[in-house]
Amino acid sequence: MAKASKKISEFSLVQGYLTRLSGGLAVGVVKICERKTGSVTDEELAKKLKVKVTEVRTILNRLHYAGIACYKKTKNRKTGWYSYTWAIKPRRVIELLLEEQAKEIEKLESKQRFEKDYTFFICKDRCSTFPFEIAAEYQFKCPACGKTMDLADNEKMAKGRNKQISDLKKEVEELRKIS
Ligand SMILES: [Zn+2]
Repeated sequence: MAKASKKISEFSLVQGYLTRLSGGLAVGVVKICERKTGSVTDEELAKKLKVKVTEVRTILNRLHYAGIACYKKTKNRKTGWYSYTWAIKPRRVIELLLEEQAKEIEKLESKQRFEKDYTFFICKDRCSTFPFEIAAEYQFKCPACGKTMDLADNEKMAKGRNKQISDLKKEVEELRKIS
């Protein structure tokens, strides 16, 4: 298999995933770990990211829990203290992300099937969309903002949904290439 020239942390899809998983700093942590494979300590990470070491540890623990980060424990002979050097498993990130994407695609496709069979009403401010029966129960007034709900353009909705699905599928293809 061809070796990926790009680091996984450069993919916006991966960045989004890491942020969802353990916050915005996680991307920085993974970036540094990828650059210095298997030789970064939590103290170094904290220094580079200019945050407290406890913050870095929280992120690393979450990544470790997900199987993304792993560590090696070494004892300093002089001080007797332990230090932990961290590494990232890029394949695991891709694996988790592909799982998540597959679920998302499935969800969108079932929405798509549902949307084909119903007539929808959409709020003027687009904060909610409901099938006819439910919109009628709300007397065609948006339950979120109180504005009128109008008949939605089914074709436009279907187009938007199709694009959403094909965009996700494209991203999955890209991910498969690097895994
Ligand atoms: Zn509304």
